[in-house]
Amino acid sequence: MEQSPLYIRVHPQDNVAIVVNDGGLPEGATFADGLTLRERVPQGHKVALADFAEGDEVIRYNVVIGYALKNLPKGSWINEHVIRMPSPPGLEGLPIATVKPPAMPPLEGFTFEGYRNADGSVGTRNILAITTTVQCVADVVQHAVTRIKAELLPRFPNVDDVVSLGHTYGCGVAIDAPDAMVPIRTVRNISLNPNFGGEVMMVSLGCEKLQPERLMPPGTIPIVTTAVDDVADIGDNGADDNGDVVVLQDEAHVGFQSMIDSIMRMAERHLERLNNRRRETCPASELVVGVQCGGSDAFSGLTANPAVGFATDLLVRAGATVMFSEVTEVRDGVDQLTSRAANPEVAQAIIREMAWYDDYLKRGSADRSANTTPGNKKGGLSNIVEKAMGSIIKSGNSPISGVLSPGEKVKQKGLIYAATPASDFICGTLQLAAGINLHVFTTGRGTPYSLAEVPVIKVATRSDLARRWHDLMDVNAGTIATGEASIEDVGWELFRLMLEIASGRKQTCAEALKLHNALVLFNPAPVT
Ligand code: CA
Repeated sequence: MEQSPLYIRVHPQDNVAIVVNDGGLPEGATFADGLTLRERVPQGHKVALADFAEGDEVIRYNVVIGYALKNLPKGSWINEHVIRMPSPPGLEGLPIATVKPPAMPPLEGFTFEGYRNADGSVGTRNILAITTTVQCVADVVQHAVTRIKAELLPRFPNVDDVVSLGHTYGCGVAIDAPDAMVPIRTVRNISLNPNFGGEVMMVSLGCEKLQPERLMPPGTIPIVTTAVDDVADIGDNGADDNGDVVVLQDEAHVGFQSMIDSIMRMAERHLERLNNRRRETCPASELVVGVQCGGSDAFSGLTANPAVGFATDLLVRAGATVMFSEVTEVRDGVDQLTSRAANPEVAQAIIREMAWYDDYLKRGSADRSANTTPGNKKGGLSNIVEKAMGSIIKSGNSPISGVLSPGEKVKQKGLIYAATPASDFICGTLQLAAGINLHVFTTGRGTPYSLAEVPVIKVATRSDLARRWHDLMDVNAGTIATGEASIEDVGWELFRLMLEIASGRKQTCAEALKLHNALVLFNPAPVT
């Protein structure tokens, strides 16, 4: 269907707007209000709604996203080449808990079918996860997982999957460096993700720096699993305070096959217990949802992210936990976060995380501008300021009730800021450690990103992407740009889909295709 020229202005104060039409618009295209393009403008890119003199502020989201580098008459294409990026806001004198969002009525009566765990958490999938202490064991564990899936899993129909928690950490690292705490607690807390039912089993090499008892100190695993009677398995120290461990260097192991046999025997006992888990009706307040974006374009902040923000508010109203992350994508809007903090302690924690990340980037001689990708710019995002304003919208309008450092586990309800890099894989990995049981991911350029450990619902920012990637995108928010649906419509659609997917009544596109990315740990500490 040929659509007449259409643009969207986000805020009445904005002096630029976004071209909506698929394929962009040619020079001379005239909008309903009489504005005429002076040059071709690609889809998602900005058009000047006013005449700009050199140095004038370019305003989108009612925020200065840059300054004109030259005179730009009304109808010009505004892109990264013609604007200068503003300096980042400082971390001094920020508004602290000044905004009291109007109280939203509780949302009651929404439920899903989940797996209740002994520690009070609720899973959305029933998965056996095999923790690894070091990368050396990764291929052996992957080999075992392939055999477990083929030979054991068919006997345990209530178990959805078997995954290896593989990673590149564990040895050759400065394990006593203060920042080593980040990757270590990340692996620990991922092993305790609600989808794994507390059935922690580990495979260790034996000589690595990250010893099993360092990864899982006594008392870490909150659930005392049923006693097992056959603890005399080869290379298996039995069920104890730091869970079940197979050590490949154990002298009892003679050859590769005996390592695989040990892992499979241990897996079988955990599968038996996992197989007894049953879904039960749980209130929507038991959802722990991580939201993030990747492969963003200028529509991300117009369609998908506002719809996710609306769903975030619905979840908070329902008493659930929602976390948003990606430090470099909120850094330019830090005042919007500190002002929305529920109390001064939360605001200070936000500032602490931003300052830590500023230092981290400085150590690598980088700054926040390293975030934007060529695809972001091609999609109409001129710089990190514009990208950040579109990214923060995912967090909705609720007060921010808590802050997590990278790799920490969430302990409270409401809207949480979980500090992570913006890298899709690292953010997803850290949100898994934080305890998400559902992940929502928006994309404009398109990415097949997913995780094996929790369902990932992908939301397309544009109808064109949703059409082309019809079997990869779960929700199309592009209908918001064309006026076929409202932000509220798509937000509710997403909220209802979350309950269906959390209940296992539906699979995500990526689950159906068995697509997932590897875990990627964040290791800010030195490697030796
Ligand atoms: Ca991301």
